[in-house]
Amino acid sequence: MKILIVNAGSSSLKYQLIDMENESTLAKGLVERIGIEGSKLTQTVNGQKFVIEEPMENHVVASKNMIDALTDSEHGVVSNMEDIGAVGHRVLHGGEKFTESVIINEKVIEAIKENIPLGPLHNPANLMGIMACKEVMPNTPMVAVFDTAFHQTMPPKAYLYGVPMDYYKRLHVRRYGFHGTSHRYVSARAAEFLGKDVKKLRIITCHLGNGSSICAVHNGECVDTSMGITPLEGLIMGTRSGSLDPAVLQFIMNNDGIDINEMLEILNKKSGLLGISGISSDMRDVDEAAENGNENALIAQQMLDMGVKKYIGAYAAAMGGVDVIVFTAGIGENGMELRERVMEDMEFLGAKIDIEKNKVKGKETDISAPDSKVKVLVIPTNEELVIARDTLDLVTKAK
Ligand code: ADP
Repeated sequence: MKILIVNAGSSSLKYQLIDMENESTLAKGLVERIGIEGSKLTQTVNGQKFVIEEPMENHVVASKNMIDALTDSEHGVVSNMEDIGAVGHRVLHGGEKFTESVIINEKVIEAIKENIPLGPLHNPANLMGIMACKEVMPNTPMVAVFDTAFHQTMPPKAYLYGVPMDYYKRLHVRRYGFHGTSHRYVSARAAEFLGKDVKKLRIITCHLGNGSSICAVHNGECVDTSMGITPLEGLIMGTRSGSLDPAVLQFIMNNDGIDINEMLEILNKKSGLLGISGISSDMRDVDEAAENGNENALIAQQMLDMGVKKYIGAYAAAMGGVDVIVFTAGIGENGMELRERVMEDMEFLGAKIDIEKNKVKGKETDISAPDSKVKVLVIPTNEELVIARDTLDLVTKAK
């Protein structure tokens, strides 16, 4: 079966067509500037680019163009729409309703709507993607895969904030966690890679990209994670501040006379590596600036190193030890210097990397030193593949 993976943003739509016979990617595409002047679809097949530039006022038009591109007689990869067996949608926030992926029906659509207050930026966009595909492909089964689902196994002691219980009961205020699809994939893949049973391992997965989160996976289940009710909590990220004393907000807002929306915009978009370094939100630029002696870039780098180190220590303590540490996503897979700095002086935990083996980018590798008790691995993440596998599984079962 050929499965289409859709990740819809407010003005964008990313897609990938995967042939499940051999789990190969047939085509990848991106529609940008939906509803804005300059709409553009770019599809890549075997390194060859195909571009459609025309006004696309909404996600329905964008989805029609996606189907046109996929079935294009010259640049497409399937002869007609019926060749696409199912669609898997990435959905940000499943709240407490979804502990796993589900076939999309009216009830599921209602539940995703109900979760809009928890994911105000992403859920409406994800829904637009779902509704647009439903319109363009009314008979194709669709599955929703939630970024939060994997973390639903966390116990209350990990997911509750220390505020009156009423806020949880009434408003569902709690830690949800994100990047769940990635943490699920790399933890299972790490066990497979080591030839071990994931149900007998204590794994710490470090997903370090533009957005970063760390997850403690005990016997195959998430027991704690660094992101919270939104993806703002936890580590310092590309443009997000990560955790801070909430009183900082009041202090800045009172001083500068800004409101909470402006404050959150600063914490989400102007903080993190960008805010500290004053250079860029991109780790490569920060690394380069730090190397050239930029003091603030160096501090930004050190803050991320320290944050990752602290979460590894905390989660090892919470699980009574750690068997495997996994690095994944853009920085985790490619940032060998970061991995070296994070894993420095971790022998007390039984973890030591081999500097030579660590010289690797984007490739599944065991980078642990021979005498390291803890296995340290680089595992490239593959969220699209998980979405495709879940979709195939659910659609096959439903037949
Ligand atoms: P997203 O969260 O958007 O999926 P990615 O997982 O692609 O992001 O990660 C993007 C981050 O990875 C950027 O900060 C980028 O600088 C970083 N990155 C990519 N390649 C390297 C590299 N060779 N060394 C260090 N960081 C890298």
